[in-house]
Amino acid sequence: MGLFGGTFDPVHIGHLRTALELREALSLEQMRLIPAARPPHKDSPQVTAEHRLAMLAAAIGDEPGLVADDRELRRSGPSYTIDTLAELRAEVGAEVPLCLCLGMDSLVNLASWRRWREFTDFAHLVVAARPGWRAPTGGAVAEWLADRWVRRPEQLRAAVAGRALILSLTLLPVSATRLREDLAHGRSVRYLVPDAALAYLRSHGLYGGATAHHLRDTR
Ligand code: ATP
Repeated sequence: MGLFGGTFDPVHIGHLRTALELREALSLEQMRLIPAARPPHKDSPQVTAEHRLAMLAAAIGDEPGLVADDRELRRSGPSYTIDTLAELRAEVGAEVPLCLCLGMDSLVNLASWRRWREFTDFAHLVVAARPGWRAPTGGAVAEWLADRWVRRPEQLRAAVAGRALILSLTLLPVSATRLREDLAHGRSVRYLVPDAALAYLRSHGLYGGATAHHLRDTR
């Protein structure tokens, strides 16, 4: 099983395509996309966790094996990844490999996450290359990972946790920050945000910015 956490503020094709390709590359039965209700080290998201979850579920649609997971909305306090990992490990039991999937930008900042060194007690770490970001070559995270790296997805199957892998997937330099700016200025984000999520955010008037008259469609 794979876990792919994020703020999804809003969800975009970079998230979805990465999650889908990770699931295929790792031959995972299920990839759980998990919105952070209260991200500990980001500014407060611009829209509520319920809206972010609903946009995510709409965007995933009926893609087999991708699941919008609401567990962090059901907890109180900051949404720590270590708590989510412990919960999922308890649910799946000790025999099932878990893969914690992150973009390279998240790996670079991992040392600021709560109890990050324990992540590999619960799961493998799978890192998606992301435009503009390189794997750390020095520092605490690089040292911690030094003897965990494997080169091929098959090597993750021989253990349930504890190994690390970098995968080069389709690079889509899309970021939610940029999309929020576009929306605030009334610019279209169509084809970067899946239509179902776009329809949801429009119908709930999320992210401000009146849509420019000449661009507004009838949906
Ligand atoms: P923001 O711009 O608000 O920081 P974001 O676009 O980086 O948002 P997040 O919800 O913070 O999106 O990201 C969730 C996860 O998805 C992270 O692990 C992040 O590295 C990864 N991710 C986000 N965008 C991409 C992308 N375009 N390609 C690959 N991975 C991505």
